Amino acid sequence: MLKLIRQSCGDLLIRPSCPICSAEIVSHPREQHPCQACCQALGLGAHPCHGRDPLPWIAAGLYQGRLREKLLQLRSSGNLRQLRALSAGLRERLPAEALLVPIPSWKHRSRANPLPALICRSLERSTREFLERTSAGMGQHHLRARQRLDNQRSAFKATALATEVATNTKAIGAADRMAPLWIVDDILTTGATALAAMTALQTAGLTVHGLICLARTPRKLARSGTS
Ligand SMILES: [Zn+2]
Repeated sequence: MLKLIRQSCGDLLIRPSCPICSAEIVSHPREQHPCQACCQALGLGAHPCHGRDPLPWIAAGLYQGRLREKLLQLRSSGNLRQLRALSAGLRERLPAEALLVPIPSWKHRSRANPLPALICRSLERSTREFLERTSAGMGQHHLRARQRLDNQRSAFKATALATEVATNTKAIGAADRMAPLWIVDDILTTGATALAAMTALQTAGLTVHGLICLARTPRKLARSGTS
């Protein structure tokens, strides 16, 4: 009996399972990766998709179908194991020294989105709180599209920490040696949010390499012709 228990415990410990569907992965298991069936269902290719419009970006997949459903689910569950699985391809692509800056969430609001900070954790790189929200982006629902865009542009400012880091690296002449900064968000739609975040960091004197996200809306992808 004891032998049987020990054996099944051993099996549980060594049998790799898919973080998304929990199915046992029999052939070519890769640590923290989804199974092949999930990769196919979620539209996760062997390599993340990427582009340069309106800023350099990398995304695990397209914001549609099962991946869209999964991301909506993860907003409330915050399941880190699943987020690690979805970001597996991004993690492999990201330089080890990359410094991540999550898009800050609205605090104590219904719109609060925990995903950017959780994605940073799942990407397993150093993360810095270099951005904060300004009051400009609040209550956008009553604004017209044009006003909304203007409003969005000043939605963020660099934190005191970001300004301090930029000033210090400049003072010691190490600006070009600073770790590459990547803004992290869950979804890239028009890029207005990412551009506003990038502008805030650049105004503080920091260099941004681009945006890393879990999903890109397909409309823009088709139009820009990127892969
Ligand atoms: Zn699976």
